[in-house]
Amino acid sequence: MRRPFALLLLLLLIAAPVSCGKPGSPPTKGPQPSSLPSYQVAAGPPVTGSPTLDAARGRGHLVVGAKEDQPYLGQKDPASGVYSGFDIEIAKMVAADLGFGPGQIQFKTIASANRETALQNGQVDYYVGTYTINDNRKKLVGFAGPYFVAGQGLLVRKSNNSIKGPQDLAGKTVCSASGSTPYQRIQKQYPQAKLVGYDTYSACVDNLVSGQVDAVTTDNAILQGYAAKVPDELKIAGQPFSTEPYGIGTPHNDAVLRGALDDALAHHEQNGDWKKAYDATLGLSGVPAPTPPPIQRY
Ligand code: GLU
Repeated sequence: MRRPFALLLLLLLIAAPVSCGKPGSPPTKGPQPSSLPSYQVAAGPPVTGSPTLDAARGRGHLVVGAKEDQPYLGQKDPASGVYSGFDIEIAKMVAADLGFGPGQIQFKTIASANRETALQNGQVDYYVGTYTINDNRKKLVGFAGPYFVAGQGLLVRKSNNSIKGPQDLAGKTVCSASGSTPYQRIQKQYPQAKLVGYDTYSACVDNLVSGQVDAVTTDNAILQGYAAKVPDELKIAGQPFSTEPYGIGTPHNDAVLRGALDDALAHHEQNGDWKKAYDATLGLSGVPAPTPPPIQRY
């Protein structure tokens, strides 16, 4: 079967009324649109001097890169095509300050390995999808933010008690998304692990549930979402072992757009939208809202 995780989710959704309220179990609900904030679309003079924004205004909408299979962060409803999650809310709140309402954003799924190319080729205007800011990537793209800080972790089957940290991965099969910082860290620092790369983390999780891999590694914020969806099958092992500051990826040369996105993040952190958005999305995976990290303008 190609998508056991999807099937498992479907079965859990059908069984949801029975398992609801089971003491100690994390919430199995998805983001609830009714509790999401709506963002005031800027009416003032538009930001000028950004080639990316000029092009978006010309076409009448923004094109924003995102993930579509990361619970509570960036998820696409297969039936409606609607994207939801914390990253999607970040994309919408900053769009509002640039003068674009939610109906003027077209989301486009871009895998971890393809983000720099998508920004360099103008396939997307900006990218919001668990995208770690680092110096290597800064040579190719720009980053606004950070707007959140995650850390690399490990997801294992509930029955597994032998993996408690990356040091236990020697000889074990561990899956991550190609081109991601967690993939690169295992490759460099834990060469005895048998590393497998897929386009998406959901493909890794499918393989974990079916027993083909021993662990999935990526940011704890992503893993918490998968674990919260199937708490009887999967668990997080050990503590985070890296720092992953999430930024909004921008085309490399567009410093005006980057500055406007930094201003927009600061605005929505101050007016409470950031926390409301977190509570209605990523907060549902069971971790209370942290204080947003300081924005590093450069
Ligand atoms: N934050 C990490 C990265 O940017 C892992 C998550 C992802 O692949 O999106 O590579």
